[in-house]
Amino acid sequence: MRTSPRRRVTSNERANPVDPPQFLHGKRYRPLSQHYRERFGTKVFKVSVSAAETCPNREGLGGMRVCVFCDEWGSAAYHQHRDLPLREQIRVNREAIRRRYRAERFLVYFQAYTNTFGRIRILQQLYEQALAEEDVLGVVVGTRPDCLPRAVLRTMEAFAREHYLSVELGVQTLDDTQLQFLARGHDSACSLAAIRKLKALPDVNLCVHLMFGLPGETDAQLRKTAELLSERGVDGVKLHNLHVLQNTPLEQLYRQGEFAPVGLEEYSRKVAVFLEYLAPGIAIHRLAAVASRWDELVAPEWTREKMRSTQFIEDHLAAANTWQGRLWPPALSKQHTQQGGI
Ligand code: SF4
Repeated sequence: MRTSPRRRVTSNERANPVDPPQFLHGKRYRPLSQHYRERFGTKVFKVSVSAAETCPNREGLGGMRVCVFCDEWGSAAYHQHRDLPLREQIRVNREAIRRRYRAERFLVYFQAYTNTFGRIRILQQLYEQALAEEDVLGVVVGTRPDCLPRAVLRTMEAFAREHYLSVELGVQTLDDTQLQFLARGHDSACSLAAIRKLKALPDVNLCVHLMFGLPGETDAQLRKTAELLSERGVDGVKLHNLHVLQNTPLEQLYRQGEFAPVGLEEYSRKVAVFLEYLAPGIAIHRLAAVASRWDELVAPEWTREKMRSTQFIEDHLAAANTWQGRLWPPALSKQHTQQGGI
């Protein structure tokens, strides 16, 4: 792996930190809501649906059975509606969000399992069905780095020329040992290739999912990941703490004492390290994981409450007087030519 040149932070900068830049609008990071406001001129909410039924791991491809953290619902937020036709799922979930947040505009989020695996021929149809629903402005597609064949990219490209399309790519980590621990069934080179392919589609918005709190994780790794994603021009990142759900391989490791989830304080510190080296224009979709099914959460307890962890991380950023992009080196970013994983 070639290492990236990095701007040296002067002792003066460390001793006399300035305030967050104005374009963060009083925040210490760029929340997704800001990206939506700029793109659509209004608040927009995601309506999660389940259209996919499986993924390469569950089909036993690559010798994997399931990612170490994944429960039987494949990360679906509203698994209880997953057998309804797509239109019904959109309506039921959209109206619940509309009531709860007084929301008026929506994106349909194809969230559960791998949405570009196995049903490639009907993708366009699904996107159009979603778009035909009332107050829906576009789609969000969750997938894996190894499930982006040309036909999928062509479909996405064509749709994105006319409508908003965002891809949420499950990268999790760019460390190959950690990817093996997670049993993802692909390596970091595959993730970097997927990022390259998606960034070659100028109208597609790309959000990368990452997990912190993995065995062997270092601050240097977090910094390099932030720099690399900034250089590659990703549009957003969604951050999760690796947490333990019932009936997952990770639960077994946890009960055997082979995995311990990171505490909120340490997680907040890791998020701060990452954000400091992340380009300030990248939207932060989420600062920490939220257990959608509380009864399935094993550990850590703090993952139960979204508002508490978000507030804690924001307070940590304020106490450290730091913010997204504080140490990001734009002048040097174009010189970086890193090819391998981290
Ligand atoms: S996380 Fe995604 S790829 Fe991994 S087992 Fe679950 S559904 Fe499959």
